[in-house]
Amino acid sequence: MKIVSLLILAFLACKNPRCQELRVTTSFESGSARVLGIDNATQTIRIIPAGDPKRGMPNWWNLRIDSINSNKPVFLEVLSSGELVQGGPSGNLRKLPPDWTWPDRAAYSTDGKIWKHTPAGIREGNYMRYRIEPGSSTLWIAWGPPFTPTDAAAFIQHLTQKHPFMKAFTLAQSREGRNVPALKISEGSKPDLQRPAIWVQARQHAWEVGGSWVAVGLAEWLAGEDKEAVWLRRYADIYIIPLMDVDHVATGDGGKHALPHDHNRDWAPTPHWPEVAASQQYIRRLAEEGRMNIFLDLHNPAPGNKVQTMYVLDKTYMGKEAFPRQERFIELLKEEFGKIKQHRNGPKPSVATPEELVSEAWVLENANPNTIGFCIETPWNAPKSTTAGYRAVGESLGRVMGKLLYTL
Ligand SMILES: [Zn+2]
Repeated sequence: MKIVSLLILAFLACKNPRCQELRVTTSFESGSARVLGIDNATQTIRIIPAGDPKRGMPNWWNLRIDSINSNKPVFLEVLSSGELVQGGPSGNLRKLPPDWTWPDRAAYSTDGKIWKHTPAGIREGNYMRYRIEPGSSTLWIAWGPPFTPTDAAAFIQHLTQKHPFMKAFTLAQSREGRNVPALKISEGSKPDLQRPAIWVQARQHAWEVGGSWVAVGLAEWLAGEDKEAVWLRRYADIYIIPLMDVDHVATGDGGKHALPHDHNRDWAPTPHWPEVAASQQYIRRLAEEGRMNIFLDLHNPAPGNKVQTMYVLDKTYMGKEAFPRQERFIELLKEEFGKIKQHRNGPKPSVATPEELVSEAWVLENANPNTIGFCIETPWNAPKSTTAGYRAVGESLGRVMGKLLYTL
């Protein structure tokens, strides 16, 4: 009887012309949320990420809300999934810590294209509460500014239509039949074989959307008229893959720690993921031509990390000519970013641990004596973790690579 009364009250409340029925949608590329409750009177929606833990840690969420009363704020309450996920290379199961699901500021958009930060969310009990003043009857809100396989293809098409020195290619077709869009940048008549090659890839971990935006910033800088960018694209061949794990991104899954293992634990002699196998093939060919020069794998770090971060592998991986170049690259990064955090605890090649199968180690072992390679992590939980902030990081990485190649 009590429940019936509440239902009648809720029904009557929504007969009030000021109270509209909110509609929540996630049936689009990269969408993910399970709705736990909607309070139309206060425009409050409560969700939990809908990712399948077998397809990576379920911390990514992304939804659209329609029929909003634009004169009032919207409140989004996000619960963290209590699912057990693989805890990394050890394969032990652990509970996903909620901080990975709760950015200080979420991303929101009123057109699905331009993304802004919400004000800082407020942690209450077992959820994070975001308040948005949309000023619009439709609102997109997500863990971070989404970047989908369709966005990657459109971005590359846009650049290649404008700039003849940029060429689109398909890196691979994924296990679920999606194309992996890729970009090659090379200007002028200098033969390919005389050009050092740079390979930059992002999103081996699907949820780490910042990596794609960093790649976008790098590609946009290389398309522009900055003297250093022009020099670099005339001097080198630059390959950019803005989004490796297209399948888990498309379905709104986390990707990291997916079964049987994620993309960055797949750099084995026979990879499980076609995108990884294809990258290896390209990089091997560049190495056979003696010109595989710089490899960057773009990621986002842990929630508490607010500093530009890089993983530097053990010196034993380095070819003789690589070590001074590696150290110079790190110096240039410090000049560009002011402060960087280095993880210098790379494994030794003789020890076969799952860590061995990360991209950086594979590239250094299979490329040329002067090849350098890094995993670069850009903070996602800071005021600068916006599309503009990420793009600026991409531009900085471009400058660093140009300065390095100019001298070493
Ligand atoms: Zn990652």
